[in-house]
Amino acid sequence: MGKPTGFIDFKRNAATYRAPAERLLDFNEIYTDHDRERLATQSARCMDCGVPFCQSEEGCPIHNMIPEWNDLVYRDQWKEALDRLHKTNNFPEFTGRVCPAPCEGACVLGITDPAVTIKNIEMAIIDRGFAEGWVVPTIPEERSEKRVAVVGSGPAGLAAADQLNKAGHAVTVYERADRIGGLLMYGIPNMKLAKDDVVERRINVMRESGIEFVTGTAVGDGANDSVSIADLRDQYDAVLLSTGSTIPRDLPIPGREFKGIHFAMDFLSANTKSLLDSRHADGDYISAKDKDVIVIGGGDTGTDCIGTSMRHGCRSLVNFELFPKPPEDRAGNNPWPTWPKIFRVDYGHEEATYKQGEDPRVYSISSLCFLGNEAGDVTGVRTVEVEFKDGKFENVPGSEKDWPADLVFLAMGFLGPEHEVSDPLGLDYDERSNFKATYGDYKTNIDKVFAAGDCRRGQSLVVRAINEGREAAREIDRFLMGDTNLP
Ligand SMILES: Cc1cc2nc3c(=O)[nH]c(=O)nc-3n(C[C@H](O)[C@H](O)[C@H](O)COP(=O)(O)OP(=O)(O)OC[C@H]3O[C@@H](n4cnc5c(N)ncnc54)[C@H](O)[C@@H]3O)c2cc1C
Ligand code: SF4
Repeated sequence: MGKPTGFIDFKRNAATYRAPAERLLDFNEIYTDHDRERLATQSARCMDCGVPFCQSEEGCPIHNMIPEWNDLVYRDQWKEALDRLHKTNNFPEFTGRVCPAPCEGACVLGITDPAVTIKNIEMAIIDRGFAEGWVVPTIPEERSEKRVAVVGSGPAGLAAADQLNKAGHAVTVYERADRIGGLLMYGIPNMKLAKDDVVERRINVMRESGIEFVTGTAVGDGANDSVSIADLRDQYDAVLLSTGSTIPRDLPIPGREFKGIHFAMDFLSANTKSLLDSRHADGDYISAKDKDVIVIGGGDTGTDCIGTSMRHGCRSLVNFELFPKPPEDRAGNNPWPTWPKIFRVDYGHEEATYKQGEDPRVYSISSLCFLGNEAGDVTGVRTVEVEFKDGKFENVPGSEKDWPADLVFLAMGFLGPEHEVSDPLGLDYDERSNFKATYGDYKTNIDKVFAAGDCRRGQSLVVRAINEGREAAREIDRFLMGDTNLP
């Protein structure tokens, strides 16, 4: 513990984002440069608690050794801090940018004071690590004779590949998209997680470490897809499925067929691809410029639709949320150290508020039907206010309202994984259609086939996908070698 009175001497002072007026003009990252002096005092706020809940089950899912690296940052030992961080996290540059930081919700200081700025410190450590050249390929000293195929290159597949490579196995990652990264690449937008500078940078380190990446290759039955999963199972000693939870929840209300109603992912992924391919010059994306936009559904996906629409220059933006506005502080049934379900202003909300003068979110509202014109274009959404009573939503009589819209984005979550890769294997599913494999063991009902990440647990978080990828690698290593040294 660097400074025993740090938590008394210093107030929380989290890093700010670039000002909305500036950041709305580009798709560059929203973050400002790391201020090492500020970070030294912020890390000094860590109390090095006897029981660090921040790194427990309720806190960081990968059990980052937070008090240790806080102390090292305070002592200006950044390289040692990076070493500690990499022991538990393969990709701190991803989590340091996009993690909602359940660790901060579980920080013991948070019982009486604002929590330590853990996520800021994590991001600063890894960014400095790359800047100083401390992040280098890890080529194993000895190679096993074993070969592992990883299907899907999101954070779960990447974490597994990194760990299995470190254990000496030959790893090939198959990805159907043209770029590696899963939702790190084509879900989360560039302003939250830069593609060339951050995602590709890590993929390059992994490539230099000996991992092989095959893009543009959908794995399935081999007839409709580029590569057959049965062949992969024959050719490799183990196969990990990490294909994500990719089927979006639809809103099958009258008027759904009108043009201009899109799943959020169609909007977000095309935007990123066009941005990376041509800085939007190819026009191959759904533009929100001068449009009245309605985003149905909140969460990270909804926020990313708001931020992207704002950068396109939409005319107006409204965001519908079915649930009531969360409280400003923890409710009685949401005590520390559980994740605080409180009102938050994310980057997209801040930007829309800056542009429109008010927060774009409308709470306790349900969509009744889409409105359209004779040409078949969407022109609006009719809604009704709802109340949550006895475990279900009830419409409030007389509260119907029509909202104008030229574009509607559906951001209502995901139902589960596609089954193109799993049906040909005869894989078992759980009751929510996810690939069935027990947490901690990751084995499916098919010999040699493992599953991890959102395809196993349902849509979740980057940090949870990393956790599952790491643990699945450990179990695959045990399966291949009879024992394992992987954590
Ligand atoms: C828009 C959006 C924003 C998000 N923002 C955040 C955030 O800010 N913070 C956070 O923590 N979480 C966020 N999430 C959630 C997070 O991105 C996911 O939980 C995480 O990426 C899941 O990782 P994964 O590796 O399991 O799957 P994914 O990242 O979904 O990757 C799966 C990959 O498998 C590939 N694939 C699928 N089928 C096949 C096949 N048959 N053959 C070959 N390849 C295949 C897909 O193309 C994809 O690249 C967000 C999610 C979305 C949709
Ligand atoms: S990965 Fe997420 S939960 Fe873990 S320390 Fe980083 S910000 Fe906190």
